[in-house]
Amino acid sequence: STQAETFEFQAESRKLLQLMVHAIYSNKDTFLRELVSNASDALDKVRLESFRDKDLEVDTSDPHILIEADKEHRTLTVRDNGIGMSRDEVQDLIGTIAKSGTAELLQQLKETQDGAAAQELIGQFGLGFYASFMVADRVTLLTRRAGESTGTRWDSTGEGTYTIETVEEAPQGTAVTLHLKAEDQEDSLLDYTDSTTITGIIKRYSDFISWPIRMEVEHTDSEGETTRQIETINSMKALWARPKEEVAEEEYREFYKHISHDWNDPLETIHLRAEGTIEYQALLFIPSVAPFDLFTRDHKRGVQLYVKRVFIMDDCEELLPEYLRFVKGVVDAQDLSLNVSREILQQDRQIQMMRKRLVKKVLSTVKDMMSQDPERYAKFWDQFGQAVKEGLLNDVDNREQILEIASFESTHDAENKTTLREYIERMKDGQDSIYYITGGSRSKVENSPHIEAFRDKGMEVLLLTDPVDEMWVESVPEFDGKRFQSIAKGQVDLDEQDEDGKDSERQQEFADVLSWMSTKLAEDVKEVRLSSRLSTSPACVVGDNNDMGPTLEKMYRAMGH
Ligand code: ADP
Ligand code: MG
Repeated sequence: STQAETFEFQAESRKLLQLMVHAIYSNKDTFLRELVSNASDALDKVRLESFRDKDLEVDTSDPHILIEADKEHRTLTVRDNGIGMSRDEVQDLIGTIAKSGTAELLQQLKETQDGAAAQELIGQFGLGFYASFMVADRVTLLTRRAGESTGTRWDSTGEGTYTIETVEEAPQGTAVTLHLKAEDQEDSLLDYTDSTTITGIIKRYSDFISWPIRMEVEHTDSEGETTRQIETINSMKALWARPKEEVAEEEYREFYKHISHDWNDPLETIHLRAEGTIEYQALLFIPSVAPFDLFTRDHKRGVQLYVKRVFIMDDCEELLPEYLRFVKGVVDAQDLSLNVSREILQQDRQIQMMRKRLVKKVLSTVKDMMSQDPERYAKFWDQFGQAVKEGLLNDVDNREQILEIASFESTHDAENKTTLREYIERMKDGQDSIYYITGGSRSKVENSPHIEAFRDKGMEVLLLTDPVDEMWVESVPEFDGKRFQSIAKGQVDLDEQDEDGKDSERQQEFADVLSWMSTKLAEDVKEVRLSSRLSTSPACVVGDNNDMGPTLEKMYRAMGH
């Protein structure tokens, strides 16, 4: 092998590692779930790659994960014969935490003093490979990428640097060896060289992994005779293919963590099986916390596509629309070809029908949550409402349904959001519009002069403060026959009709002032008119019904329009 080169961890990685080394996260067993999860992904990938590239020199004769414990040297090795990593990949993937949101995570961790909150933050982020450093004071990784001839060894104590060297001989795949921390140093640690301990953890977290996880297990018979043999310690049953009644909550939870790379429990589980013309099974999850990168371009990992139990792709965009990108899970289709590509998927009618049904199912699940568990629904909407509302812009078929499950801040209640149905129930006699105002924050719009007259008359106004609100409200005309009307635009008639001609009287009275103001302000406004919408403020600026709202205007300006 060549000389080992020493590198420094990227600054953010180093900070995360420090967190691990000093073990802020209390459930240390999860390191094994992370390693097994990576090994399983690597086996999925090698199968896929050998399928796509028949000339690739790979061994796919017995894909498996092997766990080896060495009591004497206090090491634990998780070995797979999957895709492996090239030297460059080791450097990129293991030496750098490329995950978006790392900076925010670290910032938030710095600000929080509360241990439980810190754990939730870390859980939401997921630590993956670095979780090893919770239980090990040194980690070695030996890997060879399928199809390449030389391997790579990576070694680190997690303290700021790592070494990399090229090695001539290495089996295909990856072996991660943990040099376990001394027990007396960490009294909370279990003995991870004990096969009973490991078997227990695997059963708990990784039982559904679809590849065999093997380990040497000790058996003592009635005569006190001890035998050791290598056994498969997981059941390998695809969770989504099992009947719902037979799957325990905990199994769903652990499966969710495997596919989502989230450490928190899911908020909602959706398990469905379609039979008939198109046959498929779906196991979808709504997370409990929105990921850091939900609104960045590189947000990935929605739904995985399987065909007849064979993993085909991550992040299958054709199965769910973008506004439901936070939904995680697996869809297993019976009648697609294993060769299916993204291009084919876009055209495929089966996929389109599946997508239709899955969208309806997710939306109806939220609706059920709304009626059965309002608190959980409120949590959902806080985390994902902003994304869901994007659907109002481009999923016209489901517009009603999305409006049905949406909720908004309103002048009616300072704490709780209101649904549109609730708003309509409270509407005054004769009111035929849903009044709203858009703006940057609740406090800003609440103090806006536009709201005064509405407040005085006890009329409710929705306070739409998400940037996306400004956009959908322009394109969605109505809900349940009630049109959306901005109180900052056009003429909003609050007063009863002008029966006694008072208005025209007043109009005459102020004619001179109005025309003087119109001339003075000609550069800035289209028209100056008398208004009944103000009660204490002397004047306010309103938009034309066709104008952009202020947020949109700001957005366009920022983009240089
Ligand atoms: P994540 O799994 O969320 O991507 P990890 O920290 O667990 O994050 O792993 C980082 C990356 O390192 C993986 O995405 C994968 O590309 C690579 N990797 C980790 N373990 C293995 C393995 N056993 N075989 C091949 N690649 C691996
Ligand atoms: Mg991982």
